[in-house]
Parts: sequence; C-alpha cells; structure tokens
Amino acid sequence: MLRKSMPIPLAERSLSRRRFLTMAGTVALAAGAVGATPWRLARAAGESDAMVLQTVLGSVNGAAVEWALPHEHLYVDFHGPADPAYMDVDWADVTGAVVNSLMEVKAQGVNLLVDWTNIGVGRNALLLRSASRQTDVHIVCATGIYKSLVPPALANKSVEQIARRFVDDLTLGIDDTGIRAGFIKIATTEAGPTETDAVIHRAAAIAAREVGCTITLHSPHAAATKAVVATLEKEGFDLKRFVWGHSQPSSSEDHKAMAERGAMVQFDAISADSDPFFNGPTDDESMLKRIEAMIAAGYGDRVIVSIDASVFVHPPKWQYDRDNTYMYRYFKPKMEERLGADATRQILRDNVIRAFRRGDKVT
Ligand SMILES: [Zn+2]
Repeated sequence: MLRKSMPIPLAERSLSRRRFLTMAGTVALAAGAVGATPWRLARAAGESDAMVLQTVLGSVNGAAVEWALPHEHLYVDFHGPADPAYMDVDWADVTGAVVNSLMEVKAQGVNLLVDWTNIGVGRNALLLRSASRQTDVHIVCATGIYKSLVPPALANKSVEQIARRFVDDLTLGIDDTGIRAGFIKIATTEAGPTETDAVIHRAAAIAAREVGCTITLHSPHAAATKAVVATLEKEGFDLKRFVWGHSQPSSSEDHKAMAERGAMVQFDAISADSDPFFNGPTDDESMLKRIEAMIAAGYGDRVIVSIDASVFVHPPKWQYDRDNTYMYRYFKPKMEERLGADATRQILRDNVIRAFRRGDKVT
C-alpha cells in the first residue's frame, strides 16, 4: 500500500537486562502443563470470526484478525486539554513514528490494535485512520474521558450531555470526521473515584447501555474497581461488556471474582522492567501465573493481555519503558509453551475480538 508519509527512523531500543537473560534462554518454563489444566473451552470454535469490530476505517469481521494487541497507545498527550501545549506537535513526526511502530508489529503477525487513548489524553482519530490506511493494521479507538481531564467544551455538562457525546462518537463519528469509536474507556483515580470520575462513569454506563458496547477501565486496585462497577451497575450496565484494565497489581482472588461476574480481566505492563505507576508486577513469570490461575479456575475465556506501551508521548519527558513488540517476540512463545497453542490463541486473539466487538445496537 502506498505510503503517504516517510516514517522517521526509530531510535535504537536498548535491551533490558531481563530481555538479555530471556534471549540467552535462561528462563526455564514448565512444559506440558496444559494437559493437566482444567481448561474449559467454553467458546465454540470460530465464534469470534463472526463478530464485527468497529475500526477507524469501518466495520471489519473478526475472521480478518490474525493476532491482536488489546491495550496499546499510538499517541498520548499528558499536558491536559486546558494547556495550550496540548496536542501541539508536528503531526508528520507523530505519524511517521506511529506508522513505523505499526509496521513492526504487523511484521509479527499483528493486524488488530486496540488504542485506549481517550478524550483528555490526546485522542486523535484522524491520526489513527491515517496510520491504519498506511499499514493495513485494523485499529479500534476509544471514546470516554480520562479522570479529571475533561476538555473545556465538556466542562460543567450534565451526565446526560456527556453520555450523548459518547453515543455520538460511537454511532455518528468523532468530531464530525465520521470515524466511529469502538468502545468507551474510563479511568478512576487509583485511590477511588472522585466526584468528576463518577460523573464520567455514569455517562459511560448510560451510553454503553444505549449502544450495547464495551466499557474498559483503568484501575490497578480492586477496591476502586468495585466502586466503579457499583456505579456502572446502578445505571444498568452489564459486566459482560466490561474490561478491567491494569488488574495485575490486584490478587488472583479479585481477578476470579470479577470474571465470575462476567468481566474480562486484563494484565498489561508486560515488557516493562518495573511499574512506576502502580508498583504492580511486570515480569513474565508473574503474568503467566496470573493467566494460569484464571485458566485453572475456568476463566480462560475472560482474560486478555497487553503491553500498554505509548509509541509517541508528548511531552517526551513522560515517555515510559514499554516495548509493544515484546508480546509476540518473547511473551507469546512462553504462553504457548506453558499454556498450549489453543489457550494462547484464545487469549491473544479470540478473547480480544469478543471483548472489543462492536456495540450490539450499532448498525
Ligand atoms: Zn493504557
């Protein structure tokens, strides 16, 4: 496909100590565990193929998806929407970096990326559409507002008005572009939802109920997650359309309890040397154990994993340590050895399609 802009060269990525160890083959994994795992293939083969995804280039059948990354960021802006510097960047530079990154993961077989950048932290639907066109990687983008980073145009609006904005993004298109969001991403302050957070959560639940779409949540801790879930359910939202993002710092008991209620549980931060945001685990062994615990409890169809990298961060001083090529280069082979090929495919592909399928009431 014709490239409309020249990608800029990627900076050399330094290999972490852990990655060197992995490459040297010093990480020993227990093989053959899958035979002993009470793996419940709860899903009919091919179920996800018939599902429809709402991408930035229109609707796409699940059957078209090879491999997926369910929680990534192509562009993030941490200035906040009230700052004049917000989204004031050279978009040709950004596009080049994003296209380069997508070409790298595409070379690994990934052709679906779910971008969790929402309103307030630099969502740019035109960037995502352009990058998707240049790379043939399907991208699902988000609506929803990040914590208190409510843009001036939505400040002091009612819950219903904010819900309307989310519904419009999901059904008509974002900012008059015609590019539709595929899901609603919300966030909670880690210690528990603030008043502003709760307004956004209520609006998200109302919109999701109307559209029949998924809500994803940024929340490392179970207590805050439960508080958000209580608000969502009060507005009639069904947890079968809920994805708990950044859940890895919480306990396996909390993960299973949320899955039991129908939610999809997500472990991210894979590839990072540490997690300065939530102090959660990032090492592969911890992540594999968490996945294994879900499978052993019969929730293999309710777990997804991702890196949560940000390709281009503005301002650059906030760039953080993640590598979105790590999943398919290093982690997937470990999953296959430990969990088997079927479980790996379900977690890395089928579950993602199901979690992020288009709203049931969208046509
Ligand atoms: Zn994220």
